[in-house]
Amino acid sequence: MSIDAPAKSSSPNKLVIRNIGFLLSGDLNRPILDADTVVAIDGVIHAVGSAKDIDTADATTTIDAKGTALAPGLIDSHVHPVCGDWTPRQNQLGWIDSCLHGGVTTMVSAGEVHTPGRPKDIVGMKAMAIFAQRAFHAFRPGGVKVYAGAPVLEQGMVEDDFKELGAAGVKFLGEVGLGSVKDGTTGRRMVTWARKYGIQSTIHTGGPSIPGSSLIDKDMVLETDADVIGHVNGGHTALPDDQIVALCERSPRALEIVHNGNERAGLLALRTAKELNQLHRVILGTDSPAGSGVQPLGILRMISMLSSLGEIPAEVAICLGTGNTAKMRSLACGLIAIGREASFVFLDTAQQSAGKNLLDSIQKGDLAGVGMVITDGAVSIQRSRNTPPATRVPEIVRG
Ligand SMILES: [Zn+2]
Repeated sequence: MSIDAPAKSSSPNKLVIRNIGFLLSGDLNRPILDADTVVAIDGVIHAVGSAKDIDTADATTTIDAKGTALAPGLIDSHVHPVCGDWTPRQNQLGWIDSCLHGGVTTMVSAGEVHTPGRPKDIVGMKAMAIFAQRAFHAFRPGGVKVYAGAPVLEQGMVEDDFKELGAAGVKFLGEVGLGSVKDGTTGRRMVTWARKYGIQSTIHTGGPSIPGSSLIDKDMVLETDADVIGHVNGGHTALPDDQIVALCERSPRALEIVHNGNERAGLLALRTAKELNQLHRVILGTDSPAGSGVQPLGILRMISMLSSLGEIPAEVAICLGTGNTAKMRSLACGLIAIGREASFVFLDTAQQSAGKNLLDSIQKGDLAGVGMVITDGAVSIQRSRNTPPATRVPEIVRG
């Protein structure tokens, strides 16, 4: 199979990845592609197919995948960044770079709510959101793309506030419920305004995360109707099972399962979505940094947990943390397909895993080994310092 995009007039930066063992597309409809070669030009995927059918000449960088698997860079749908690569929650430096070593190339902020002295007045809250959006747009720790600048809803906001935030480049709201808006009627009104100005919304679901936050039950989630049902498995404290099932059945919105939630409840949400034939709504996050800390391998751990205990094929579990999140959050990454961002993770069976290959090892609950990460067409890291060592790792042969 080979699909070539129309040639560009100039192609200064050509990345060729060859000798791919198998290609995990991130697309739930077709999770494994019959392809061994990917070409990206200027950070965008240009061709996917067989080496014999693709023009691999004049590469700026050529990577021999050495038979390892190529997947889209993983997406963490739920993080709480503050400033640069520092988090005050556990007073940790370099946490985003550590997640890059877990294969994550894109993160979505669910609110910069850990900022010391976080302003709660509307002017201050808007200023902080715009600052965070700008700062993380200009600074990508380790190459990771962080979509930050996610204001939480405060009482007294009016439509013009959302218009102003949207015009300033804010694309995501922080979790509804973390600010002073705690009722579904106000939440729904504000989420509707946000949507009108191109801002996507997420709602906190479940019991309070830390002292000072509060319970959000299924009635408020359904009434607010945010685009993403944030941590449907609680962060940490989950809703009762019947409420989780009701959210899967009665809302059409994204079902986000997080690492820092209730794992049993996460499996319940996954199984319910599967039974309803709604797996495309399931997306993954860590909800870190949090009281449980930062999980550099959090998305890989979710993939192995959901595949092994939730009994879904590994290639499907990988779609939850890549293509599903990209589709639900309107991101240009997350799929190995022409026109998408050239952000990738190379995976192989961890050394000494009992699995007979990468997918089998994930289905048995082991973590994949990361051998290289590419963000926007550029190599960010080679062998991960954090995952169990991959059996085989790709090599840069030219460039
Ligand atoms: Zn939350």
